Amino acid sequence: MRRDPLAYMSAELDDLRRQGLLRSLRVLQSEQAARASIDGRSVVNLSSNNYLGLTTHPKLRACAEQAIRRYGVGSGSVRPIAGTMELHMELERRLAAFKNTEAVVVFQSGFTANAGTVSSILTRDDVVVSDELNHASIIDGCRLSRADIKVFSHRDVDEARAIVRGLPARQRKLIISDGVFSMDGDLGALPGLCEVAEEFECIMMVDDAHASGVFGRNGRGTIDHFDLHGRVDVQVGTLSKAIGALGGYVAGSRALIEFLCHRARPFLFSTSHPPSVAATCLAAIDVLEHEPHLVDRLWENTRFFKSGLQKLGFNTGASESPITPVIVGEAPMAMRLSDRLFTEGVFAQGIGFPTVPRDKARVRTIVTATHTREDLQFALDTFAKVGRELGMIQ
Ligand code: PMP
Repeated sequence: MRRDPLAYMSAELDDLRRQGLLRSLRVLQSEQAARASIDGRSVVNLSSNNYLGLTTHPKLRACAEQAIRRYGVGSGSVRPIAGTMELHMELERRLAAFKNTEAVVVFQSGFTANAGTVSSILTRDDVVVSDELNHASIIDGCRLSRADIKVFSHRDVDEARAIVRGLPARQRKLIISDGVFSMDGDLGALPGLCEVAEEFECIMMVDDAHASGVFGRNGRGTIDHFDLHGRVDVQVGTLSKAIGALGGYVAGSRALIEFLCHRARPFLFSTSHPPSVAATCLAAIDVLEHEPHLVDRLWENTRFFKSGLQKLGFNTGASESPITPVIVGEAPMAMRLSDRLFTEGVFAQGIGFPTVPRDKARVRTIVTATHTREDLQFALDTFAKVGRELGMIQ
């Protein structure tokens, strides 16, 4: 009999099980919302990136439905062949105006935007200088580019400067950081990194996935928050989180965007968004522009919940955003906390190695604009009860 060539996978899965890292998928029976039905249980949902509650916003639903009726459900082609519809072009124009840049190109996801962009703007002769906690899609883009990868300690501008200073002046360099770090909820050291980029003539790139719709005026992102307009050459945003639908985009100069349209492989070789997705995102920009109270509400909820967790005595790290980690140590402890919270009606996902360092496993919480005060108070009471039961707080 033939030996199973995939046997090594079962062995690796057994290993994950032994380390307490084997997870099964949580399944939603309801909409993605602040209160959701998950694995048959009604829970306060603290695990989505649906920051503004736009996944269920009536305007977005209506625009998606209209687009389906008018244009059907698929685009039928990659962008450079026959998959560019008027809605795609309109979305890019609106995003460029919103982000205050010359142009924008939309990708299928934030992941493909990052990976496709970094891999196409650098070659093996170049070097990328990257924060150690940058998102996986940036890391993959760096690897695909075959550029030399230099990693600086998290948010350490001096180290980034020392790395850049030691490189040949003629070599092309890209400095890259997340705007908001997805596991810790802290902000990239963007003002300092921009200075380094200017001093040494580097390309400056920011991944604003968790800042889009969250930071800056009307949710314009960290570049707006730090007033860095004109100083970041490549801005990536996502349409999958606060915007409530799916997709990613790059905002920058006309030359950058035209270059990406000729070089970025996800743009060239993967089918574009269904028209309903583009229509949904257009409606979301309207909402950001006309319903700023959603962003205000998100921040009120963030302040209430973060300070509540801190008062209870949990270690919430260095978060400055609606992402608040509850850091507990080893992975099995984080998974136990997450599982017990879930049984008590609160869904906050446990996250362990390799997504975060081995001794910094955590339960990650994300509040949204649509959580009510009662939802958040219930979640805090549940954290208090379970945290005491597991000996994490007094
Ligand atoms: N960048 C960061 C920092 C992220 O957290 C994510 C999503 N996990 C992405 C990019 C990818 O975005 P998307 O989900 O739109 O692919």
